[in-house]
Amino acid sequence: LAPILLHFLYSTATPYTTLPSVLLLGPPGAGKTTLTTLFERGPQQSSSSSSPVAKTHTSQVPSSVELSVNSDDPSTSYKTNLDDEGATAKKFLLVDTPGHPKLRAQSIAHLTSAEPTIKSSLVSDGGAKSKIKAVVFMVDAAALADGDALPSTAEYLYDILLRLQKRFHSRNGSRAPASMPVLVAANKLDLFTALPAALVKSNLEAELGRIRVARSKGLLDSGVGQDELAANEEGDWLGGDGSEKFSFAQMMEFDVDIDVIGGSVIGDGPGAEKWWKWIGERV
Ligand code: GDP
Repeated sequence: LAPILLHFLYSTATPYTTLPSVLLLGPPGAGKTTLTTLFERGPQQSSSSSSPVAKTHTSQVPSSVELSVNSDDPSTSYKTNLDDEGATAKKFLLVDTPGHPKLRAQSIAHLTSAEPTIKSSLVSDGGAKSKIKAVVFMVDAAALADGDALPSTAEYLYDILLRLQKRFHSRNGSRAPASMPVLVAANKLDLFTALPAALVKSNLEAELGRIRVARSKGLLDSGVGQDELAANEEGDWLGGDGSEKFSFAQMMEFDVDIDVIGGSVIGDGPGAEKWWKWIGERV
């Protein structure tokens, strides 16, 4: 029976291969898997006590879940069962990626092309690709408060944003690539030690600014000539030219639109509805 069932599953899965996806990135421990589980189980809250609790995502490949937003009203809670409400559902894949530093390159490799796609685990059988509509970069706002986590978190974000910036330069002809919305989800705001979203934003911006200066100095110190440096700056300098301070707003020039929104997945905090709405408006 199993092979028949599998065949059935795969053949009926074909219509889903064109579902768009939202890429969930961020350092390990930020709460990506917990969020994925929350959204996945959202509509079945009442019966959730009997369903198994998903384990944290320790695998080395992305895993995706299929989710639905109310296409008429993206602000509809993730807890709402859209079928019961008779609402029109828009489906998408939330792709949870491994945050381990050694696997990051793999996670963000998808972002370089003008039309970023991912071969998600859900659609890998047919080899179909899903279009990436948005990126959610989740951070642990409590870990950022003591400063230790800031450099590594910002390094990861730097690499992601730089790829998206290069994507802009790699466009064919005059046709600009579709803009890429990025949500920095400041998680764990239920903890009183967590930084508020505004501080998460300014701390990350300051650190990204330090990183870009350090990286360009590194090139200078290594004896790279001025011409090469100018050429390289075009590729590796994040954000606008000649700006002293880095800000997320500078990424608009490259059609990378960044929002920082605070929330929490567990505990008594602001919850995850604002992130859900942000995603729903972009898929
Ligand atoms: P991942 O590595 O990014 O997938 O992170 P996990 O989803 O495995 O979460 C790491 C840890 O953070 C787990 O112990 C979660 O229970 C915890 N966590 C996730 N979200 C929250 C939150 O909103 N508040 C608090 N206090 N802890 C959280």
